[in-house]
Amino acid sequence: LASDGGAPDQDVPRRTWRTFPKSWRDLNLSATDVATSAAAVLNPQVFGDRSSGTVGCTLVTVAGNRYSGVCIDVPCSMGFCAEHAAVAAMVTAGEFQIAKVVAVCRDETGHLYVLSPCGRCREFMHQVHPENMVSAFK
Ligand SMILES: [Zn+2]
Repeated sequence: LASDGGAPDQDVPRRTWRTFPKSWRDLNLSATDVATSAAAVLNPQVFGDRSSGTVGCTLVTVAGNRYSGVCIDVPCSMGFCAEHAAVAAMVTAGEFQIAKVVAVCRDETGHLYVLSPCGRCREFMHQVHPENMVSAFK
């Protein structure tokens, strides 16, 4: 059975899945609040051609839980984005449906920037649960 936030089950019609909240208001959240959560996990570490924690991400699931992660950049393109780390934390906890996701970074002056998920992350989130692309970026 598909359940709220659970893994998609191909045998269960989509209409039985939980209806996604459509707005930040429906979720009783603000983008600023979630961006603040994402900024809280930033922890830039740079070692030669490797770095980590330069981008932070927080996602909020349809169940209202938050999961965060940071990027890890290593040679040979084996690293991953902060969104991947946040999704891994979500899936580890047994959830799959993202309601909202925000990724941020800071420049050298401390100014905070909100980043759009890259194409790989958008596809990754969609493949984790097909409804993720419907609502997570509105
Ligand atoms: Zn990405």
